[in-house]
This record gives sequence, C-alpha cells and structure tokens, in this order.
Amino acid sequence: CGIVGILGKQPAVPTIIEALRRLEYRGYDSAGVATIENGHIGRRRASGKLDNLVKRVDGEPLPGLTGIGHTRWATHGAPTENNAHPHATENVAVVHNGIIENHEELKQELIELGQVFNSETDSETIVQMVDYHLKQGKTPKEAAYATLQRLEGAYAIAMIFASDENIMIGARHGAPLVVGFGEDEMYLGSDSLAVAPMTRKIAYMPDGVWTVLSHKGAEFFDMDGSTVECPVQTTALMA
Ligand code: GLU
Repeated sequence: CGIVGILGKQPAVPTIIEALRRLEYRGYDSAGVATIENGHIGRRRASGKLDNLVKRVDGEPLPGLTGIGHTRWATHGAPTENNAHPHATENVAVVHNGIIENHEELKQELIELGQVFNSETDSETIVQMVDYHLKQGKTPKEAAYATLQRLEGAYAIAMIFASDENIMIGARHGAPLVVGFGEDEMYLGSDSLAVAPMTRKIAYMPDGVWTVLSHKGAEFFDMDGSTVECPVQTTALMA
C-alpha cells in the first residue's frame, strides 16, 4: 500500500517511519522496515498500527543508512506479522504494492529450483526470484531485471541488497512510484507525500520503468533494458 526507500547518510529507520506516518491515510493493516548494516539485512515488522512497529523498533533498534519501509493492505495472505513486508532472504529485501497475478506459477518454479518460502503472500515470489538469481552469480541490477521481466500484474517495488548498501532498485507497473533527489541521498516513495519533507526534487517514474539508485542519482530503464529519460521536477514547498 505505502512504500518508502532511503539511500542515506543518517540512520534510515526514523525517517522511514515518519514517512510511513504520512502514508497512513491510505489505510493499512501491518507495517515493516528493513535496512542494510555491515552486509546484513535487518528487519522489524508488526501487524496493526504503525505504533506497534515503533514499539518493536524502540525495543530493538535497527541501524543502517539504507532502508525500505512498507504499510501493507493485504490482498494475498492474512494481515499477520509474518506476511508483513519487507519480505527478505539473507541477500535481498523487498517491499511491494499491488498484486503479482502469476505468483502461483512463479512460486512453483522457484520451489523446484530450491527456494524456500516463508509467507503466504504473492509478494514473496519477487524476493525469492531475485535471491535465486543473486545466488546464480548475477549482480543486483541483473537479478532485479531478470525478475521484473517475469512479473505479471500491478506493482510498485523497492529492493535493497545485503551485498551493496550503496544501491537501491525501484520499479513500477500499474502502481505509482516516485524518485526523490537529495544531497548525496536518494529516496523512493509510493507518492510524493512520502518524500516531500526530504526533498523538493522529484521524478515521477513513467509506467513500466525501473530505476537503479546510487547516492549520486538515478538511472532509469524500460523493460527492454534501454535507458529512459525521466525529468526531475521541483515541487512547490508543502505547508
Ligand atoms: N499483494 C501484496 C500483499 O498482499 C501487497 C499488498 C499491498 O499493496 O499493500 O502482501
């Protein structure tokens, strides 16, 4: 339902949680955050209100300058903590808005390839497919692209990788995603409100486009892998 991603210079979680608060108006049934720290993915999730997640994070803080957060509106799988996003393996963490229509077919395929599923969501097929490709030796960018080419349905996605905390990958197809440009910091959001206090420089990603973010900026690609120009707009200052 709501997505936030930060490739930052300060601990990411407090800023991610503030952004998730601005997305609460969309409605949700659970929430979660994941970060990269010293080559490891850390994750906290909770069902119910964002305050439940805040309690979880206060009790067991999550360091890391690179992170993603999500408020979930369950479509596949009950609104439990275990089905809350981010979904993750030891290599990659993913948040997803929308529905992966061919998730059952992809899940069968991945199980036969040895991937082990931990949730009842359609979204977990994304993380398991990226994980499979990473284990085959693909780079994060290659693994994300190979996965995106297989997904059918509506999605906005943000991914972070244990092997490289200096990149974040986003993609959209039938669900909105914006990229925010900061000072040596980059952001992803399911709408401009998510990133509004962090930056006024925003690129509204065209549909069917994916992006590779570094601290210095963003590269945009279409589903054929060709580079796409994506204009950066300066939004009006919000009250
Ligand atoms: N289909 C996904 C799920 O049920 C994502 C739902 C959403 O957009 O929040 O987990």
